[in-house]
Amino acid sequence: MSILATEKQTLSNFIGGQWVKSTTTKYEEVPNPATGEILGEVPISTEEDLEKAVAAAKKAFATWRKVPSPQRARILFKYQQLLTENWDELAKLITIENGKNYNEAYGEVLRGIECVEFATGTPSLLMGQQLPDIATDIESGMYRYPLGIVGGITPFNFPMMVPCWMFPLAIASGNTFILKPSERTPLLANRLAELLQEAGLPEGVFNVVHGAHDIVNGILSHPDIPAVSFVGSQPVAEYVYKTGTSYGKRVQALAGAKNHSIVMPDADMDLTVTNIMNAAFGSAGERCMACAVVVAVGDIADELVDRLVDEANQMTIGNGLEKDIFLGPVIRDSHKDKTIGYIESGVEEGAKLLRDGRKDESSSEGGYFVGPTIFDQVTTEMKIWKEEIFAPVLSIVRVESLDDAIALANQSEFANGACLYTDSAKAIRQFREDIDAGMLGVNLGVPAPMAFFPFSGYKKSFYGDLHANGKDGIEFYTRKKMLTARH
Ligand code: NAD
Repeated sequence: MSILATEKQTLSNFIGGQWVKSTTTKYEEVPNPATGEILGEVPISTEEDLEKAVAAAKKAFATWRKVPSPQRARILFKYQQLLTENWDELAKLITIENGKNYNEAYGEVLRGIECVEFATGTPSLLMGQQLPDIATDIESGMYRYPLGIVGGITPFNFPMMVPCWMFPLAIASGNTFILKPSERTPLLANRLAELLQEAGLPEGVFNVVHGAHDIVNGILSHPDIPAVSFVGSQPVAEYVYKTGTSYGKRVQALAGAKNHSIVMPDADMDLTVTNIMNAAFGSAGERCMACAVVVAVGDIADELVDRLVDEANQMTIGNGLEKDIFLGPVIRDSHKDKTIGYIESGVEEGAKLLRDGRKDESSSEGGYFVGPTIFDQVTTEMKIWKEEIFAPVLSIVRVESLDDAIALANQSEFANGACLYTDSAKAIRQFREDIDAGMLGVNLGVPAPMAFFPFSGYKKSFYGDLHANGKDGIEFYTRKKMLTARH
């Protein structure tokens, strides 16, 4: 399969090691968001397709769970090598289907590779615990085992990194996996499957079923799928968590965000501006760790606002495959319309529109572009403060003290990330202790944890207990047996 082929592709599902045409009659077009050019069409698969994948994954589980963990890990070593060899192609594919610029896509591939590298450590990570003498001549031991078939449901904004939060650890732990990628960015998932096969993964261990809510509902209610990992928007995450757990499943559901960056008067201005521009407008604001709100403390506000607007005025907007383009499109025309709706609501609610991205031109025709948009004088009553916009729209709120800034950020119903820009150890400590968010950054803009740590949001940014990645991931994808033995 040539991923970068210009002719339109009709995607197949990947089931039991084969490319299987969906039984559906419904297909959705997949445009390149930078040009509007149709890249292919994705099947909105049926219950019958899902059943085939479950049957293949169930059959594979019977043998895969018995494959020694160093052998499972060895396949992932090979996979790491293949991902590295195909890095450039994978990055281009991300840019073509998602719109983020090539450098960001290249970085996303790295993030995926790091997850695979972490999963190659499963022989150590899966170790249990023993106590040789819980009583005279009696010992106890805890052993970890896979769960069975894991369902993974992923969003459009990280077509590589987010699936890689899930399947490498899940399969290295002895589970089999069914991925339902976003129907808006389905191409990369098939390439990930192809490379897994090339790495020597037995058939049926990893399957891809394309589609929309019907497949999600099928996964959530299927008696043969004991665990579901979900990443996506808040309402869907809540629905997935409640529905999946009502069927007795283990569910982790990572959701939306509204991340605040607090800027103290002693912050290094150059570093702060560079990092906020990247965090607010990188990936067109379509990151769950994007900076959505700047909270300017004290008299730094005027200079900060001027510098941010200056930088935004120089931003290059266009097709992320072109050299030196920073800001790519948002994912769909409908998302552009929704973003414009938010900008209108900000104006109506009395925020000061300092920079209007609706007027920007892009160097690429036919795409869904919104330029960098900056509002000042935003308040917590406004919709643009309360809701996740997920687009290049930055709100600025002005406050008098760090106490006020933290109190304001803590009013958000989301709690994914938060950042602080300062030179003060005391302020950093207060921020770490009192801010209500799971992933904190100090003097940097996108504090996404690496693969060996958990991805740690809470409040309405996360539903569940064990987070994605790190040791939480191992806990999530395994269950324990306790053996107590008398000798
Ligand atoms: P989305 O919720 O629209 O879609 C996510 C997945 O759910 C897709 O596979 C989609 O097919 C499925 N889905 C959508 N609507 C559904 C419904 N009604 N019923 C059942 N399934 C449904 O999310 P998106 O727009 O693709 O992704 C962006 C969102 O994901 C943002 O809110 C972002 O903050 C969030 N996100 C969160 C994290 C995190 O770590 N917390 C990471 C990445 C993205």
